[in-house]
Amino acid sequence: MRSPTKPDESNARPTDPPAIEASDVHVTYEDGTEAVRGLSLRVEAGEFFGFLGPNGAGKTTTIRTLVTLLYPTAGSVSINGFDVRTDPQAVRESIGYMAQETSIDEELTARENLRFAGRAYGVPKAKRADRIAELLEVVGLEEVADDKVDTFSGGMKKRLDAATSLLHRPPLVFLDEPTTGLDPEARTRLWDYFERLNEQGTTVFLTTQYLEEADRLCDRLAVIQDGRIITSDTPDALKSRVGGEVLELELADDDAGRIERAKRIVRETDAIDATRVTTTEDGIEVASENAREGAHELLVALYEADLRVAAFDVRSPTLDDVFLSLVGADRDHDRSGAANRDQQPPAEVDVEGQR
Ligand code: ADP
Repeated sequence: MRSPTKPDESNARPTDPPAIEASDVHVTYEDGTEAVRGLSLRVEAGEFFGFLGPNGAGKTTTIRTLVTLLYPTAGSVSINGFDVRTDPQAVRESIGYMAQETSIDEELTARENLRFAGRAYGVPKAKRADRIAELLEVVGLEEVADDKVDTFSGGMKKRLDAATSLLHRPPLVFLDEPTTGLDPEARTRLWDYFERLNEQGTTVFLTTQYLEEADRLCDRLAVIQDGRIITSDTPDALKSRVGGEVLELELADDDAGRIERAKRIVRETDAIDATRVTTTEDGIEVASENAREGAHELLVALYEADLRVAAFDVRSPTLDDVFLSLVGADRDHDRSGAANRDQQPPAEVDVEGQR
């Protein structure tokens, strides 16, 4: 990340406006749904910022408001110093937006798609060919530049889509679940690309359902629930807030009744002060300050209750644990993130040239 200019430095240049500044934003849909209720957010130029939350929390509504596809019902939003209400065109010219659904034309080649985007974004004609060649190289599609997109894999289409939203070299890019549905290799390639982009100074605002992705990429994260930000910090600070360690127990017989009994024993034992006990695929998971010290005594208690432990492990908290302790959602908090996509927002703005 580029460090923000410190005002007290002797050679200080005028501080860049924040990439995103949202203050007490409310967005209410026509049917009365208050999707965003008093959201305040500041993202500095150069940051890689992650925006997380359970399904229905208000992530899509927020991102659509920040990119001027929805008007805030109340509150103020400025993007790269431009107000979304009074200067939406300047906002659009200063951002890239990679939506959940790719906006590329499958009947065209990769290069033709980029040419089309270049025109839509008003990239000067003389510069278009160079920019297109450069971006095709960056996203690793130069070899297939003249192939029709309908022959591309999902990951290739996503990379092309990312390239189209960056043709006009915006200082700030919004990525809405950019890697959903991709295989691990395609995801890793995109991550490398987003990291490079950020290293070159582009501010990134990312929503994702993959907490590992947020952990690896983001300098700072905000978690939204019920239309409000409930916490915001660096990934490490969030993890250290969970405290202690996590004990994973795989039960030899993992039928529901035995799992419930095991959970009860964990809660009742003096061996471990569990702050959270959750069901996993083949057993249970216990978060606790004293998970390591108390593990042996707990295993004995389970054994005495005729509950055989097939395997166990003690690990450090991950962002999944943070998420669980914050929002109490289950592990796959947002796997059905597509649920609201087809609904119509209330105040669509004409967004020519906006992706
Ligand atoms: P997320 O992206 O975090 O899943 P959304 O921003 O899509 O959340 O949704 C936030 C809330 O607003 C949810 O309760 C959702 O049902 C509601 N919502 C989303 N789109 C619309 C719409 N077009 N009309 C009415 N309610 C909506």
